[in-house]
Amino acid sequence: MSILFDSPPIAFVSRIPDTEAQQWLIVLNTLLPDNEVCLFDSLTTRQKQQCSLAVVANPDPAELRQLPNLQWVHSTWAGVERMVAELSVADSLVNDPLIKSTAFPIVRLIDPTLAHTMAEAVLAWTLYLHRDMPAYRAQQSAAQWLQRPYIAASERTVGVLGLGKLGALSAERLHANGFNVLGWSRHDKSFENIQTFAAEEGLSAMLAQSDIVINLLPLTDQTRGLLSTARFAQCKQGVSLINFGRGPTMNQADLITALGAGIVSHAVLDVFYEEPLPVNHPYWSHADITILPHISAPTSISSASKIVANNIREYYKTGRIPEAVDRQLGY
Ligand code: NAP
Repeated sequence: MSILFDSPPIAFVSRIPDTEAQQWLIVLNTLLPDNEVCLFDSLTTRQKQQCSLAVVANPDPAELRQLPNLQWVHSTWAGVERMVAELSVADSLVNDPLIKSTAFPIVRLIDPTLAHTMAEAVLAWTLYLHRDMPAYRAQQSAAQWLQRPYIAASERTVGVLGLGKLGALSAERLHANGFNVLGWSRHDKSFENIQTFAAEEGLSAMLAQSDIVINLLPLTDQTRGLLSTARFAQCKQGVSLINFGRGPTMNQADLITALGAGIVSHAVLDVFYEEPLPVNHPYWSHADITILPHISAPTSISSASKIVANNIREYYKTGRIPEAVDRQLGY
């Protein structure tokens, strides 16, 4: 028996593994019984013309271009830097005025569950650095019994770069666990228990006080390469770093130099210029780098699908497109 739908199909456009895409399709079609969500490859030419909405997960810009009537797209990811960059490159390469640009609104995933997952990861890896786990791991390899001095969390200052959906909750979680927490953002912000900083001078002041610096900034023209030799020089000697934002925010050659000079003592990295991290990359064998395979805050299909489906239902009911990312700003 075939079901007839009033609204045009919703395209699911992604470069994620097939099994994951199928999972998304099942949950979205269950949550949106009045719509038909279809994998891009299964759409007919006519359906591609009809699609006004796509749900995307790392989409191929060439496929989005084949949906000429898109009004907006909903990403299943919180970070859409790669998509924004790829679409802008794809648009710049097209000279044909008959081919529409891909300037439609991009709505990113804002999921409180994801923020909790990230805050948990931030706390876990801050504790890893705070309680000297890399050093004890190295001591074990050398069968060395050495008790390092204990430092209370309240004596440890943690600086969080980015106080958005993920950074704010992470900063609060760190404070709740006894750390002295500082935060940096583009605009001035106020939190009950977190001293905040903004703009250029604010960054220098925050770095100078932090024992551990955590990056939760989006990748934009302003944040690319932000953490470089000049910034490391403003940090406390022996600072530890956690990068859970995006790889290119931290200059990788400068990081290796700063680790070699003892300016940075350890770095926990979850995000990289190139992912997966190439097997011959010097990070893999570096004693003072802990590598995570981009797992600090994976999207939970179960919670994210409800948020995506709610936004889509609201759109069909009211015509309102949820707040989109600012393509000029990049986040
Ligand atoms: P968000 O809500 O958009 O917040 C971004 C924060 O960064 C805001 O506080 C913003 O300041 C600040 N910011 C942006 N540009 C800045 C600049 N030039 N100078 C100072 N502050 C700046 O983003 P989010 O949801 O928290 O996510 C942050 C990033 O986490 C994502 O973009 C993504 O790259 C990354 N992420 C990583 C994973 C993972 O598994 N590793 C998972 C999800 C997301 P204002 O508040 O003043 O605007």
